[in-house]
Amino acid sequence: MPSKSNQWCQLLRQFLNRVNDIMAGNGKTIFNLILSGKIPSHKIYEDESVYAFLDINPLSRGHVLVIPKEESRTMDCLSEDSAAELGRVLPKICRAIMKITGANDYNIVQNNGENAGQTVPHLHFHIIPKYPESNHSFIWEPKPIDHSDAMELSRAILEELE
Ligand code: 5GP
Repeated sequence: MPSKSNQWCQLLRQFLNRVNDIMAGNGKTIFNLILSGKIPSHKIYEDESVYAFLDINPLSRGHVLVIPKEESRTMDCLSEDSAAELGRVLPKICRAIMKITGANDYNIVQNNGENAGQTVPHLHFHIIPKYPESNHSFIWEPKPIDHSDAMELSRAILEELE
């Protein structure tokens, strides 16, 4: 039986998915409304290509979303220029969050596609401070690598990238 807070999370996710479905009909996401200032956000950083703001449902204090202004659903669709701009500012934003919150540890999470947990179809990085008392977790169930598959897989990806 899921807990009350899990039920609320599920309901909220369903609601956000619904909002996104409606907005996707216009080729827009809720983050477009934030970028255009049509809905408010707690901005922490902005430049020509990047915008960052506090997550409305933080996993911990200082949970930030960093987004490219370019409309890109997932990482594989992002332009190299926009990726470079994001990469350039991410460490600086992390440093500021750590300094201001006092957290020493943090996770950067980036979901691509609904099945991978993406609810807003506009590329974003989560920066999530982890405090000693934080109890949020990310489910991670590693299994030993299959070396024969790994040889084939790594060769195929290597060739694709050449
Ligand atoms: P995802 O599940 O797609 O990786 O993450 C989307 C994040 O966007 C969620 O953590 C959710 O709380 C956040 N979010 C969704 N709508 C809004 C909004 O209107 N304002 C803000 N600040 N965050 C939002």
